[in-house]
Amino acid sequence: MNVKRIFCIGRNYAKHIAELGNSPDGDCVIFMKPASCAVEEGETVRLPTAFGEVHHEAELVVLLTGGGRDVAVEDAMDCVAGITLGLDLTLRDLQTQLKNKGAPWELAKAFDQSAPLGDFKPYLEQDLQAIDFSCYVNGQLRQHGHTRDMLYSVARQIHILSQTWELQPGDVIFTGTPEGVGPVKPGDTIVLQSEQIGRFEWSFSA
Ligand code: ZN
Repeated sequence: MNVKRIFCIGRNYAKHIAELGNSPDGDCVIFMKPASCAVEEGETVRLPTAFGEVHHEAELVVLLTGGGRDVAVEDAMDCVAGITLGLDLTLRDLQTQLKNKGAPWELAKAFDQSAPLGDFKPYLEQDLQAIDFSCYVNGQLRQHGHTRDMLYSVARQIHILSQTWELQPGDVIFTGTPEGVGPVKPGDTIVLQSEQIGRFEWSFSA
């Protein structure tokens, strides 16, 4: 998988903001994971076990063709090459501690194998704000999201990122998670599924 950089958008679904006790009136949060965090479908994910709970965050993920700097919202969808589903794995207890200290989130968000990513399907100009997706842990539905509920559309996310970074081919964006996040443990299996995108599965070990 030729991922150049992994950008992540946080606080993009109102009900997820509420479930973590965050205030809904702020901007979205932007953070990154190293490209080496990406895990292809079928690869087993080794969970860190010494830092509290790891949570699943199911997300629509877009792959960019590039785009450069200062991409206008109206032109942003021209930068999209592919779409898939992914997991923004998060050490939640550690993230809470870091938030409380006002410290950066890397330890909680950017650990090895923290970005399972399905195979990208070509973007065929479908409406990315009309994607329905679900996350099952051991066959139980945990998250069901619809991208119409995003506070920042994919186009706006691309616009915002391009004000700081020159967008390059192979850049990907995790576009935020809906409500229903929860723990994933060694021995679990997670399936991400969307009628419009496909079905992807990962197993987890200690
Ligand atoms: Zn996330």
